[in-house]
Amino acid sequence: MTSLAHFEAVAGSLKLPGKAVIDGERVPSASGKTFVNITPRNGRVLNHVAQCDAADVESAVRSARRAFEDGRWRKLHYRDKKRVLFKLAEIMEREAETLAVLESLDVGKPITNALQGDIPSAIRSLRYYAEALDKIYGEVGPEAPDRFSFAVHEPLGVIGAIVPWNFPLHMAMWKVAPALAMGNSIILKPAEQSPLTALKLGELALEAGLPPGVLNVLPGFGEEAGKALALHGDVDMIAFTGSGAVGKLLMQYSGQSNLKRVSLELGGKSPHIIFADCPDLDKAATEAAWGVFYNSGQVCTAGSRLLVQEPIADEFLARLLAVARKIVAGDPLEPATMSGAMASEEQMMTALRYIEIAKSEGGALTLGGRRVRADSGGFYVEPTIIDRVQPENTLAREEVFGPVLAVTRFKSADDAVRIANDTNYGLAAGLWTTNITLAHRAAREIRAGLVWINGWDSCDITMPFGGFKQSGFGRDRSLHALYKYSDFKSVSITL
Ligand code: NAD
Repeated sequence: MTSLAHFEAVAGSLKLPGKAVIDGERVPSASGKTFVNITPRNGRVLNHVAQCDAADVESAVRSARRAFEDGRWRKLHYRDKKRVLFKLAEIMEREAETLAVLESLDVGKPITNALQGDIPSAIRSLRYYAEALDKIYGEVGPEAPDRFSFAVHEPLGVIGAIVPWNFPLHMAMWKVAPALAMGNSIILKPAEQSPLTALKLGELALEAGLPPGVLNVLPGFGEEAGKALALHGDVDMIAFTGSGAVGKLLMQYSGQSNLKRVSLELGGKSPHIIFADCPDLDKAATEAAWGVFYNSGQVCTAGSRLLVQEPIADEFLARLLAVARKIVAGDPLEPATMSGAMASEEQMMTALRYIEIAKSEGGALTLGGRRVRADSGGFYVEPTIIDRVQPENTLAREEVFGPVLAVTRFKSADDAVRIANDTNYGLAAGLWTTNITLAHRAAREIRAGLVWINGWDSCDITMPFGGFKQSGFGRDRSLHALYKYSDFKSVSITL
C-alpha cells in the first residue's frame, strides 16, 4: 500500500492537530488566536494552529511546576517511569504512518525519509533513554570516620525545549526523552513551520499514561511563545536547537531573567574533506552528495563545504555530479521521491539568494541553481554545486540551510585543516583517507564536535552530538544528554 494515492488518502483522512497541550488538556490559545500552517508541498493551507503567547506560557509553566513539585512523575518508581515511556514508544510505532505523513506534509520531506528515518529515529531515542533511566547512579564520598557523604543526580525542574523545523519530531525527542527520563517536566515549543508532530506527541504521551502537566506542547511564534518561555522566571532550563542568532538571544533572556541554564545546538558549515588517497571515490562521492542534499540541505550537520585535494579534484567532481544529477525533487508524498520541498518559501528564497551571491563572487555554477516544480505551488530547489569557492567567499562562511554545496580545492593536508577550521562554526566534519596517521591527526586538529572518517554521519543516539565554537554548547544524544537535565547534589551525614 505504499503509493502516492495511499499517502494522499491517509493525509486526507487525518484530523490535523491544532490545539496546544497544557495540563493534560487540548486547548485553544488563551487569546483565541491561531496561525496559518502552510504545507511547502504545494503552498496550500494545511490547518490553523493555536498561536500561544505569554498567557499560555504562564499556564503551561504553572502546570509543569505543579507536576514537578507534587512529584507525580519525578517521584514515580523508575519501573513505572520506564513502563510509561516504553508504552509511548509502542503507541508511536502504532502511529508511525500518521506521524510520518504529518511530518511530510508539514515540512515537505519525502514520506520515505520520514517513515524510515525521522519517525523510527525518534522512537529509538525514546527507548534509549527509557532503558537508561534505571541506570542513573550517584557517588559515595571517600571513607571518613565521622561522616558519610554521597552525591545524587536530581532533575532540574521545568525544562523549556525550543526546537526547529528540519527534523521536527526527531529533534524534539533528543530533548524530551532524556529530560523525561531524568524526571523533569517539559514545555515543548515546536517551530511555527512544523507544529504537527509535536502536538501529536503531546496527545500520545497522555494516552501512554504520562501524567498531565509533565509534557506540555505550546505552538506559536518564536518572538511570542518562545521568548516568553525563555524569559520566564520559573523555567529552569532552555534546551534549544536552531539558529545562532536566536541562541544569542536566549543567553540574553537567561541573564535578564533567572539565570536559567541554556544548552544550544546551533548551525554549521561543516567541511567534508576528500584527500587524494581516498579509499573509495565512488562511496565518498555518494556520501558527499547525500551529506549535503539530504533533506534538501536543511540539516545542521550538512557537509556544505567540500574540500577536495587538487590531484583528484576533477575526477571526484565528475563522480559527485553523476550522483547529484539523480537527486531530483519530487512530490513529498510519492514514495519514490528522494528529495522533497524546502520547509518554507522563506527558506527557498534564502537558498536562491545564496546561489546568486556565490555566482557574483566568482563561484562556478556546476549543477542546479534554480527553483523547480513551481507549478505545484510548492517550494523546491535543485541540488546545486558551486565550484571554485574561495575560503573567504560568503558561500564558504555562511550557513545556507539549503541544497547548495561549495567546492574548494586544496593542496596539502595542512591547507585542508586550516581551511576546515577557518569558520565561526564547529559542528561536524568528515574526511576520507587511507593514511591512518593523517586521519587521526586531522580528526584531532579539526575544531568540531563530530568528526567522521571514511563515512559521513556514521554515528547514532549512542554518541554525543553538539558543536564547538558558535555551533553551540551542551550535548544531545548519549548519556551526556541525560545528565544535562540534572543537578548534582552532595549530601553529607555527620555520624
Ligand atoms: P530559528 O532559530 O529561527 O528557530 C528555531 C526555534 O526557535 C523555533 O522554534 C522558533 O520559533 C524559535 N525562536 C525564534 N525566535 C525566538 C526567540 N526570540 N525566542 C525564543 N525562541 C525563538 O531557526 P530555524 O530557522 O527554525 O532553524 C534553522 C536553524 O537551526 C539553522 O541555522 C540550523 O543550522 C539550526 N539547526 C541546528 C541543529 C543542531 O542540532 N545543531 C539542528 C537543526 C537546525
